[in-house]
Amino acid sequence: MSLLITDECIACDACRDECPTEAIEEADPIYIIEPDICTECVGYYDEPSCIAVCPVECIIADPNNVENLEELKLKFRQQQELKS
Ligand code: SF4
Ligand code: SF4
Repeated sequence: MSLLITDECIACDACRDECPTEAIEEADPIYIIEPDICTECVGYYDEPSCIAVCPVECIIADPNNVENLEELKLKFRQQQELKS
């Protein structure tokens, strides 16, 4: 599934550079995750890197964008094909 940034976000910018898919954007007043791009770090890391660095633990699973592991792997492969 994609992840979601909640209103607890303090816009610290710690997560954006850690995202391998560039799915995190600075918005006003909080940061957002683009659900069509986020792979939950599948294909890159064992755990979502944004969650690991967020100091206020405001990144959660997005209940409106639930995807299983196979769908996330497919999303990753499609992104790799677009890059090549
Ligand atoms: S889970 Fe990974 S891909 Fe998704 S927003 Fe966080 S760092 Fe980016
Ligand atoms: S690391 Fe957490 S608090 Fe900082 S910008 Fe990202 S989501 Fe917001």
